Amino acid sequence: MSTLPIADFKTVRAHARVLIRDHQSSFVRMLLLYALAAIMALVPAWVIGQITQYASTNGLTSRRVTDLVALLFASSLGYALLSFLARRRSYVLGETIFAQLREGFLESVLALPLAEVERAGTGDLLSRTTNDIEALARTVRFALPEWLVAIVQATLTLVAMLLISPLASLASLVSLPFLYFSTRFYLRYATPGYRRERMSYATLSGTVSETAEGARTVDAQRLGRRQATRIEGDIRESFYAEMYTLLMRLVWFPIVESSFALAVSVTLAWSGWLAITHHITLGAATTVTLYVVQINDPIDRIISWLDELQMGQSSLARLVGVASVRDDRPSTGPSPSTEVISVRNVSYAYREGHDVLRDVSLTIRPGERLAIVGPSGAGKSTLGRLLAGIDAPRSGEVLLGEISLSSLPLDTLRRHVALVTQEHHIFIGTVRENLALAKPSANESEILDALAAVDALEWVNGLPQGLSTELGTTGYPVTPAQAQQLALARLVLSNPHTLVLDEATALLDPRAARHLERSLSAVLKGRTVIAIAHRLHTAHDADRVCVVSQGRIIEVGTHDELIELDGDYAALWRSWRSDGHAGS
Ligand code: ATP
Repeated sequence: MSTLPIADFKTVRAHARVLIRDHQSSFVRMLLLYALAAIMALVPAWVIGQITQYASTNGLTSRRVTDLVALLFASSLGYALLSFLARRRSYVLGETIFAQLREGFLESVLALPLAEVERAGTGDLLSRTTNDIEALARTVRFALPEWLVAIVQATLTLVAMLLISPLASLASLVSLPFLYFSTRFYLRYATPGYRRERMSYATLSGTVSETAEGARTVDAQRLGRRQATRIEGDIRESFYAEMYTLLMRLVWFPIVESSFALAVSVTLAWSGWLAITHHITLGAATTVTLYVVQINDPIDRIISWLDELQMGQSSLARLVGVASVRDDRPSTGPSPSTEVISVRNVSYAYREGHDVLRDVSLTIRPGERLAIVGPSGAGKSTLGRLLAGIDAPRSGEVLLGEISLSSLPLDTLRRHVALVTQEHHIFIGTVRENLALAKPSANESEILDALAAVDALEWVNGLPQGLSTELGTTGYPVTPAQAQQLALARLVLSNPHTLVLDEATALLDPRAARHLERSLSAVLKGRTVIAIAHRLHTAHDADRVCVVSQGRIIEVGTHDELIELDGDYAALWRSWRSDGHAGS
């Protein structure tokens, strides 16, 4: 299964740059506050250096001690205050940027072409909306601010060291080659590792969610062992991916820690020697050594947050990647002049070389009620998807008026044609909210009328809070048949000219289904209704019946004409009646 795209490094960098530019002034103010706090943090080492210097030259008076201690006290207070302000600003900024990223991502997800989501499977998208968003939240809220703070602290400590004594500071450079090369090695080999880790989570959550969603099928088909083996395989892949990045850290961290110890001891020896040989004062030697001890902490943080930043970067690449999916239809375009749907020599294949529709042609008049029937796997649902403009034909065309359905902007398409399948979804929210999704401006009486049209008014009125009853996974449980009625009521509210109903009443019992279809067709007078049905009473009630078999239309006509023809439809009808459906 192909996954959704992942943005390349250049795109991610450009995206990050835009984000920073959007918040430039807040960003600069935050860095300034951190810089001031870092300057305050430099004072104690300098004070200790001064005390050592005075003590070594017998100049340590009580006045000097009092002044230096007062300075120490003031700088600590200043540090506490400034770092509080800086941190507050950085958290607010982090949350703002994160909210912006999340909203952008949500917009991209909602704009994804349906066919693309189906191709990629829900697991990938699920993992991006959960694991990647979480990883990015950690990065933007903590890793990035902490990393920037550490950079500011390290830079200012370095500048202070150089100001005190460039000569003594030289010794601290001893750790640089170790840090530089080990970090380069780490970044080079760990980045693909983190990417692999995130992909493995996506695959795992895909397998788990698909198994859970299809639990009944898995059970019925005895696929449990197979699915368990697949999940174990996915877990193994995650395990190896994590082991790899762990190994990288195991190599890298000790090198980093040893480099710090090396830098401190070499600086101590070197600056001590410089002080003994009177090249620098003892105070300067003390301060520089203390600064080297002090700089280890921000450098350590710079390096260790790189880990998180790496993960954040791979997550951002996966989130930004969703936005790069090209819309499969234009955003504007002409509106069709008529509601005639013409299918012209259409062929369609899910997999190359395996056509499931072959050279199908059909014209559907506005206001007509057409039933599509045929054996299982004949291609009825596929034809329904093409008629609803969800998929584009491989060859031939499906036209609404004179315009190809697949080139209509999504908004226009949905105003003209809508599809309801057996798969329906109840969103978390009230009954009213669930219906208003189809028409946000709908008032109470429109919602009630829509419910009446699908025979649902009675049971909705019987709910504990009527229209205000909360539904969805955490709310009042509705049966699949009731959910199907709500899906149809949404369709009534959105009021497209053409409705494609793919087994849209299959979950209701036959009598209720027929009643619903009749009340629906009273409301939908003048609308084109294309109903894909296994229950032949739908075909009996329709204006015309179209029989599909092995990807071709083999018969088209009214119920009576096809019975007279005594072909496939007549045989289907006889067998359906003999199954005891005569009265329903
Ligand atoms: P049913 O009455 O069982 O729903 P149908 O007549 O609606 O069947 P379709 O669902 O259109 O038939 O399927 C037509 C053919 O296309 C079948 O062979 C099916 O296996 C195949 N098919 C359907 N959906 C896909 C898909 N997403 N990927 C690959 N093949 C598919």
